Amino acid sequence: NTPPVRVTVTGAAGNIGYALVHMIGQGRLLGPNQQIILTLLELPMAKDQLEGTMMELRDCAFPILKEIKGTTQYDQGFMGCDIAILVGAKPRGPGMERKDLLAANARIFKEQGEALDKYASKNVKVLVVGNPANTNALITAHFAPSIPKTNFTALTRLDQNRAQSIIAQRVSANVEDVRNIIIWGNHSTTQFADVSQATVQQNGISQTVRGLVADDTWLQKAFVEQVAKRGGAIIEKRKASSAASAASAVCDHIHDWLIGTDNGTFVSMGVITDGKLYGIKEQVCFSFPCVCKDGNIKVLEGFQWDQFQQSMINKTLKELLEEKEMAMSVVVS
Ligand code: NDP
Repeated sequence: NTPPVRVTVTGAAGNIGYALVHMIGQGRLLGPNQQIILTLLELPMAKDQLEGTMMELRDCAFPILKEIKGTTQYDQGFMGCDIAILVGAKPRGPGMERKDLLAANARIFKEQGEALDKYASKNVKVLVVGNPANTNALITAHFAPSIPKTNFTALTRLDQNRAQSIIAQRVSANVEDVRNIIIWGNHSTTQFADVSQATVQQNGISQTVRGLVADDTWLQKAFVEQVAKRGGAIIEKRKASSAASAASAVCDHIHDWLIGTDNGTFVSMGVITDGKLYGIKEQVCFSFPCVCKDGNIKVLEGFQWDQFQQSMINKTLKELLEEKEMAMSVVVS
């Protein structure tokens, strides 16, 4: 009988948060037998939505939810927490530019980093979803110096899942048989969905995606763009941003991080660079291929990049460095 795990979700009454807390209740994070103490953290202005979400969550009578708490205070929200899923962020408002969004969110994630540093478990695992997710993760880690940098990640699993699903449809395979697509860099339109290591299992045979698709022009352009712009395409149709798929990807990310990745399979996660990974000297939160075991993330190194890959990686790294500069200038005096 393992003790219950304390999970905190910020922005828990928002679109993604609402879907996510119900998936957590169903056991999607750590399996159907792991009890969870779930804390929903929200802004004071969303107090009613928070209470409504908690009422529904209680009405689901999920057996693994040992306790359900709701709060608008950081100390109560992060006290002793083992897993922090930071979904809440300021959305882009009318007339707002990218740098305004970066500045507003940098302030929010600075506060959350400080609060995690003060109240959370020193081994808390942090996943940032709120955009710009990679840069917000970097800021959060910066302001939580007593927690190892390796405990901070950003969500690029939705991009990976989208890429897998597009390839599965293209080659008429089951989505779970498409493996090892890599999302490099930023969770933004500069991200690079790379199939150079990807395979498809069909009838017991493993084939490369490049061999099966046999169209490098499509793989390098239309496919990469389709993955990167999928969020926008969903907004156009649904008139609202993706929520259930983002929540589902959060569950996949935490599950694989803490339970472990399957043998021979790697997943994409935004992790904080240490000055050595793939020769990236600066500290940024960059998405890499990773394997996980016993709650530790190992970035898979050694994949060689050709000219095309290098140019895509340069572009997304450049954007991350620009975001970092803008965000840091707001929060570090
Ligand atoms: P959503 O739940 O739709 O989105 C939350 C964040 O996740 C946004 O930054 C969004 O980015 C981001 N995101 C990351 N990946 C995706 C994806 N694939 N698809 C869609 N969104 C993605 O926002 P809501 O406005 O519905 O809810 C936010 C909630 O957060 C509100 O209830 C608000 O009160 C709360 N909040 C809480 C804070 C706190 O707890 N301290 C702080 C700030 C807000 P994008 O905007 O680019 O879609």
